[in-house]
Amino acid sequence: MKKDERSKKILQKLAKLFPDPNCALVHDDPFQLLVATILSAQCTDERVNKVTPSLFQKYPDAASMSKAPLSSIEKLIQSTGFFRSKAKSLKSSSEDIVTKHGGKVPASMDELIKLRGVGRKTANVVLGNAFGKNVGVVVDTHVGRLSRRFGFTKEKDPVKVEKDLMKLVSQKDWTVISHRMIMHGRATCKARKPLCGACELHTLCPSSEV
Ligand code: SF4
Repeated sequence: MKKDERSKKILQKLAKLFPDPNCALVHDDPFQLLVATILSAQCTDERVNKVTPSLFQKYPDAASMSKAPLSSIEKLIQSTGFFRSKAKSLKSSSEDIVTKHGGKVPASMDELIKLRGVGRKTANVVLGNAFGKNVGVVVDTHVGRLSRRFGFTKEKDPVKVEKDLMKLVSQKDWTVISHRMIMHGRATCKARKPLCGACELHTLCPSSEV
């Protein structure tokens, strides 16, 4: 089977396996998703979802977070790791959202990546899931790993992986494709020991070990 044809079939199969995937980070609005995504760096979504209810109860929006004492934010997010740096990012980006964007999270890549602690990956999460804008593809560790195993890319740098995915996947699917790969990566195509024998994609996948 030719590479393009195989890639297309893998994407179709992933769509069948995960028809309606959602963002795993619990949020009610763009600000909450931005905060949760900043907290998710080097931390599991599960852990973030345990921390955010009390954080948002105290600081529900950019206005309140911008005025919060750093020590108070640090205490609330401590268990997510790198909490000092994350607290600074939350406070600083909240201040910018208030002073430069009227208290609302900006809905553009250019403006989002100017906020402290926000890179392309975080911006893509917010744009795709809170604003319904397919501007890019979120490339986390699962998406990078699966993209290489599927033969979608040879790159390791997330920005280069993203470029290859943007060429391969229809723009309308840029947000859902990363959810699908993350779900498949967590459940089956695990980092250390992929469960190829139990994988629905093993007849298509060029890295299958069965
Ligand atoms: S066949 Fe193996 S390597 Fe390929 S997607 Fe499935 S689990 Fe991953």
